[in-house]
Amino acid sequence: MDPTAANPPGVRTANVQLTVRGRKLGVRISVPDRDVRPAELLPFYRSMSEAMMNMVTHDAAASGYSVSCKAGCGACCRQLVPISAIEARRLAKLVEQMPEPRRSEIKRRFQEAIEKTARADLLARMSNPQDADPRAMREINLEYWKLRIPCPFLENESCSIYADRPIACREFLVVSDPRHCSEDRPDNVRALGPPAGPISHRLPRPYRSPGGKPIDWVPLILSLDFAMRHRNEPDARPATQWVNEFFEGLPK
Ligand code: SF4
Repeated sequence: MDPTAANPPGVRTANVQLTVRGRKLGVRISVPDRDVRPAELLPFYRSMSEAMMNMVTHDAAASGYSVSCKAGCGACCRQLVPISAIEARRLAKLVEQMPEPRRSEIKRRFQEAIEKTARADLLARMSNPQDADPRAMREINLEYWKLRIPCPFLENESCSIYADRPIACREFLVVSDPRHCSEDRPDNVRALGPPAGPISHRLPRPYRSPGGKPIDWVPLILSLDFAMRHRNEPDARPATQWVNEFFEGLPK
């Protein structure tokens, strides 16, 4: 990270030129000038996701496709949403900070969603996605899609935590007819993908699955449970170290 811009007190600002899968991407980033835990860098990770999604949205528009997602359409909020472990812990904290009776209501919805997956014989199979066969995961995603389980944060077909929604939600942009998002299978849904793959999978992965693999995502409805089982946070390190690791992990 080469600072080429003025730095306000306590903040490190830099203009960065990246190459992602052969594409040039210029971003201006600001991070705290101190040791931080990864959760404090969520604004940075979100900004990187936004920069990449802007790039693919622009490309799609040049090819004649436009994003068909609209406010008030929550069809995609009924699929298995894969969020980073860091964000799962962040969502759990957000819920804990909600005033009553809202906190209990949101927790009830999480529990209801989990029970639905248990009744459909999905819960055990989706609990440790990194240890599952990728083909089995595809089947699990399809079964989950058919259950139409609303995200616990979905209210009146809108996201009730919009400013805090996970990166996976920010990256799910559809360019096909919105009617396909409510069909029994997602075969006709055409979604844009960030050029570096899902950014939420590129956040630090400090936790391990029962099979010993780094946990790169957690089903959103299991966030509260995940946070209860993973109470420790990664140690704080200079923000620039986390940022450089993120940049180094991007496909060139
Ligand atoms: S967090 Fe918000 S945007 Fe994401 S699935 Fe839930 S309701 Fe939808």
